[in-house]
Amino acid sequence: MLLPYGMSRDVVYVLIGLSGVTVMLMSAARFRSSISLPWALMGTGVLMAVLGDSLWVYYEHIAEVNPFPSPADGLYLLEYPIVATALHILARHRRSPADRESRLDSAILVVGLALPYWVLLIDPQLGSPGPVLTQAILLGYPVADILLLAGLVRLVTTAGPRTPSFRMITMALVCVLAGDVAFVLVEDPQGFSVSLGVVPFLTAYLLWGAAALHPSAADLLRPTPEAAPSLTTRRLLVLTAVVLLAPGTLIVQLVAGVEPSTWAVAITSAILFVLVVVRMAAMLRRMQEQARRLDEIARTDTLTGLPNRRTLDAQLAREYDRAARGGTPLTLALLDLDRFKRFNDTYGHQAGDELLAGAATAWSLVLSSGDMLARYGGEEFVLLMPGRDLDGAEHLLSALRLVTPEKQTFSAGLARWDGRESPLELLRRTDKALYAAKEAGRDRVVRADPPVTSGAPPLEPTSLTST
Ligand code: GH3
Ligand code: MG
Ligand code: MG
Repeated sequence: MLLPYGMSRDVVYVLIGLSGVTVMLMSAARFRSSISLPWALMGTGVLMAVLGDSLWVYYEHIAEVNPFPSPADGLYLLEYPIVATALHILARHRRSPADRESRLDSAILVVGLALPYWVLLIDPQLGSPGPVLTQAILLGYPVADILLLAGLVRLVTTAGPRTPSFRMITMALVCVLAGDVAFVLVEDPQGFSVSLGVVPFLTAYLLWGAAALHPSAADLLRPTPEAAPSLTTRRLLVLTAVVLLAPGTLIVQLVAGVEPSTWAVAITSAILFVLVVVRMAAMLRRMQEQARRLDEIARTDTLTGLPNRRTLDAQLAREYDRAARGGTPLTLALLDLDRFKRFNDTYGHQAGDELLAGAATAWSLVLSSGDMLARYGGEEFVLLMPGRDLDGAEHLLSALRLVTPEKQTFSAGLARWDGRESPLELLRRTDKALYAAKEAGRDRVVRADPPVTSGAPPLEPTSLTST
């Protein structure tokens, strides 16, 4: 920028661009295969722009012509789809296939940002006089910009790591896009003649080269471990701002007194509304799924897959209710594996875990659908047997004894609900019986003593529920 106007200055400019391209292509050759392709594509894309610049050096300083359109435009325009393809590949690798929400975010951003391009750069060109090729080239630049913008948006909405190389690529793309807009808005798209207008492109060349040189350049494809990025405040603000571009455009046009782009705003708004609703639905579905999974985790014991104590408590309350209303028996057993500490000490805790899980499976297969086996804690289980009296329950427990793996035995306390005692009292009574079974020598079932009744009428089932 400090050099005097002339061919040497423009040659330096081209050489800077070429140095960036060289580094990018050299990195592509050096990297392992999967990251090599995006770098090769980005290098080739930027090379197209540098070749376009070189052509302009020739036009301006040697041939002294100012052609438009020219093959240089073709070269410049080639840069965009090639780089956009590279960005697409990067984004696809960095994003988990299930990340539908980020995809929708990209779509919202691209649709929202395409509107200003349309209103400022594309729409005014439509229908202007001139040869078809000139028209096509003039339209080609903003359309190519949208293509590149889509690639950039896809890339930045991935949740992957923001490495220095990643950031520099992002900034290079922003420079190219900003430079294009400045170029079209500020001066006529003719003449290369280095001016302040090319500062963004020069900066982009440097950033491309620096991004390829940085050690993190080989690491662009590292995917994120998390399934879906959370809707951060920043992302929400950006999405809101972009969605507001549609009404904002209309307001600015009305205030400025120019003809409003009614159709473009209406169509963009409609697409944005649909995208936002679909995005909300996707998030809602994910949250419902999460809630369902959390609920499942909260209800089951991880090791055995059995209902845990929390589920048992809730079920006990329901069975109290049903037994009270139907006058049916409700029997409860507390099972405790015998000498389980010794088993652990002999065979290891892993074998102990396997035995717990194996016993849970084996016992579950013997139960009928009304019974409920829950892990009470440690090597203790609760068996809830609605509809069985003490004889029936004892019969079932002998069946369980036969299928317990590894010749392991258990002791059990057994009690039938008297129709009044609370779940806590019932469990306490059963626990006492279990202790008696242990004391009597283990590997047996002991029936609990009947509760000490106060003579009060049975409690209402609802007030019996424990927490
Ligand atoms: P008793 O016949 O008197 O019941 O003897 P015990 O050894 O079974 O009873 P104790 O209460 O002394 O020890 C229970 C053991 O259960 C201690 C603990 O290491 C083991 N245990 C509890 N939970 C787990 C578990 O999840 N996995 C394994 N592997 N062991 C467990
Ligand atoms: Mg125990
Ligand atoms: Mg035990």
